[in-house]
Amino acid sequence: MSFQIAIDGPAGAGKSTIAKRVAKIKEFIYVDTGAMYRAMGYYLMKQNVGPYDEAAIEEHCVNADITIAYENGEQVVFLNGENVNGVIRTEAVGNMASATSKNPKVRERLTALQKELARTNNVVMDGRDIGTCVLPFADVKIYLTASSAVRAKRRYDELTAKGVACDLAQIEEDIIKRDHQDMNREVAPLKQAEDAHLVDSSYMTIEEVVDTILKLCEK
Ligand code: C5P
Repeated sequence: MSFQIAIDGPAGAGKSTIAKRVAKIKEFIYVDTGAMYRAMGYYLMKQNVGPYDEAAIEEHCVNADITIAYENGEQVVFLNGENVNGVIRTEAVGNMASATSKNPKVRERLTALQKELARTNNVVMDGRDIGTCVLPFADVKIYLTASSAVRAKRRYDELTAKGVACDLAQIEEDIIKRDHQDMNREVAPLKQAEDAHLVDSSYMTIEEVVDTILKLCEK
C-alpha cells in the first residue's frame, strides 16, 4: 500500500512549497494537481475556448493529453507531448484553470490520472479536492490556509522577486475571486475534509508547517 499525504487549501496558501519539502524529506513524489488543471486551461485558451463555454470545454478537453514526469526531482507537465511548465504559471492561465476546472469532464480526466499516481507511488499531493474526492482514504490530510492579505503579499513578493511588475490590491482581489469560484462550484468544491487537520500558516514559518505535517505522519 502506498502512503498518501493530501494537502488542500486556497490559492497562495503555500501548498506547493510545503508539499515539495515534505516530499523531499519523506522521499515521496510530489504531485501538483493544480499544474494539471493549469495545463488544461492553457490548452483550452490556445483553442480559443471561452472560460464559460461548457459545450466547447467538453468537446476540446478530450484532446488534451496531460501527463507528468519527474526531472531532477521536479514535476514536469506534458501537454500532448510538450513540456508546458514554463507557460502555465501566469495569472491568466490560473484564472482559466479555475473557470474550466468546474467542468465535470475536465475533472474526471484529471482525477483518474491523479488516483493512478497515488495508487502506485507514495505521494504528497496538493490541490483543492484531494482529501475530499481524489484520495478520500489518505493517511494524512491537511487543510492549509492563511488570510487573503498574507496570501496576496506572498504572491506579490514571489512575482516581484522574478521581476514581474504587479499590483498587490489586484492580486488580493484575484485571489478572493478565485477562492470564491473554487469553493462554490458544484463538483468537488474546495472545502476542508472532515478528517483533515486545519493549519493556518498566516503566522507560521515554512519549517513550522513542515514539522507539523511530519509529526502528523508519525502518529
Ligand atoms: O493550485 P493552482 O493555483 O495551480 O490551481 C489552479 C486552479 O486549478 C485552481 O484555482 C482550481 O480551480 C483548479 N484546481 C482544482 N482542483 C485541484 C487543483 C487545482 O480544481 N485539485
